[in-house]
Amino acid sequence: MRIGGERSLEAQRAAMVADQLRARGVRDERVLKAMGAVPRELFVPDGRRDQAYADEALPIEAGQTISQPYIVARMTELLAVRPGDRILEIGTGSGYQAAILAELGGRVTTIERQSDLIPQARARLEELGLADGVEFRTGDGSKGLLEGAPWPRIIVTAAAPGIPRTLREQLDPNGGRMVIPVGSRDRQDLLVVVRQGDEWIERSDGPCVFVPLIGSEGFDYDA
Ligand code: SAM
Repeated sequence: MRIGGERSLEAQRAAMVADQLRARGVRDERVLKAMGAVPRELFVPDGRRDQAYADEALPIEAGQTISQPYIVARMTELLAVRPGDRILEIGTGSGYQAAILAELGGRVTTIERQSDLIPQARARLEELGLADGVEFRTGDGSKGLLEGAPWPRIIVTAAAPGIPRTLREQLDPNGGRMVIPVGSRDRQDLLVVVRQGDEWIERSDGPCVFVPLIGSEGFDYDA
């Protein structure tokens, strides 16, 4: 039974990579491989394991969400992670995005506002043998993390009303890259920001919908 069930989740994961990612234009083979390797079912609440490979965001603890597989893959591809890169992630949530980044060889520092989400996220990464590549912090990530700045890579997995000034400043001036959803509470654009010295070059990768970034350089409160 157990083996049959696991095989079926593996088959679902392979189908997710083919039908939701590759077919929609995710091209980076390293990202596709990482998405095919990390078991998403570990990162969703127990009662939702059968939905782990659904083409949608799912609710997790503390009223938050684990993002849709496609958006995780697309953001990871846009971040252009090289093995050994130091990455600041804002919004740990389930820990799934951090696991994908660690699987790619990134050295991740992830910040979560809701402290009760951290122990579970950490336990999942430990179970997968990826915890060595991930440092967990609790706090308001809209202010970034001065310790460790400048960051070569910053990924924000919650919606910001604008690009937080502090995150801009903490981005590495030597080609640092940030991926961040920016817009209203209901709808955002997925922005890619590349810093060269005192120039920040921004482009939109298209529309997206995230839960809000709540903090001093985010939205004011949970609506
Ligand atoms: N990356 C997560 C994953 O892989 O499961 C999904 C993140 S979820 C869409 C957004 C997360 O951002 C929530 O867990 C929320 O509590 C967190 N968040 C919101 N505002 C924050 C802030 N100012 N600092 C840190 N985390 C924040």
